[in-house]
Amino acid sequence: NANRKFHPQDTVVDVNGVKVGGGNFQIIAGPCSVESLDQICSVAESVKASGAGMLRGGAFKPRTSPYAFQGMRDKGIDLLLEAKKATGLPIVSEIMDLSQMPLFEEVDVIQVGARNMQNFELLKELGKTTKPILLKRGLSSTLQELLMSAEYIMAGGNGRVILCERGIRTFETTTRNTLDLSAVPLLKTMTHLPIVVDPSHATGLSKLVKPMAMAAVACGADGLLIEVHNDPIHALCDGQQSLTPEAFTDLVKSVQNILPFA
Ligand code: PEP
Ligand code: MN
Repeated sequence: NANRKFHPQDTVVDVNGVKVGGGNFQIIAGPCSVESLDQICSVAESVKASGAGMLRGGAFKPRTSPYAFQGMRDKGIDLLLEAKKATGLPIVSEIMDLSQMPLFEEVDVIQVGARNMQNFELLKELGKTTKPILLKRGLSSTLQELLMSAEYIMAGGNGRVILCERGIRTFETTTRNTLDLSAVPLLKTMTHLPIVVDPSHATGLSKLVKPMAMAAVACGADGLLIEVHNDPIHALCDGQQSLTPEAFTDLVKSVQNILPFA
């Protein structure tokens, strides 16, 4: 059960020794999409050196247009596993369909993207696994709906759920989404599950990522999800919101400076 009432203590999700929640703060970083062995290994090495605790990378990409880059698919998972071997960082990647489950055997955290937050059959299957699940808030989902989706996973016996606030649809179009930071302290009252914030997808603009990351820390987030690319201008997906490794290093330093006060 995700409800704080029945489980007053914070849940700590332990990913191969990398802990999230209950006072353990983690930064998950990496490119939107895995693009090549060189790219994923180079980003992995740099985010690790800067202090990231986990590596993210999309292999199956839920793109708005069917003509946009769809991800490297199974080959992308293979390359992520290479980067995991090279750096020792646990890896996080998005699953889009039940049929992809066998490919995620060695993926440490399975991400359920915003567009699949209410894919209930997928959630039920993930509930039967023992894998940590990073559950992102749907594009227009309420916090109650997000929690019910977590409940689907937990009802199957898998309590290792990390929630992610990644911005919601509003009338504002200057930013890609509107980051709902009130979700963090609110969710803390409603649930014991850890909550991480993704300022990359929430804003869609690299310049806004660091200030919103710091704001997320100030309101009590248990972690951050940050898109980092070695060459953002030429990224195959989400380049405009991706940080360079240098900008990511700067973000981590700023976040570490305010962490003890959060
Ligand atoms: C992503 O993390 O790359 C992604 C597609 O995010 P979201 O599901 O939040 O849009
Ligand atoms: Mn992305």
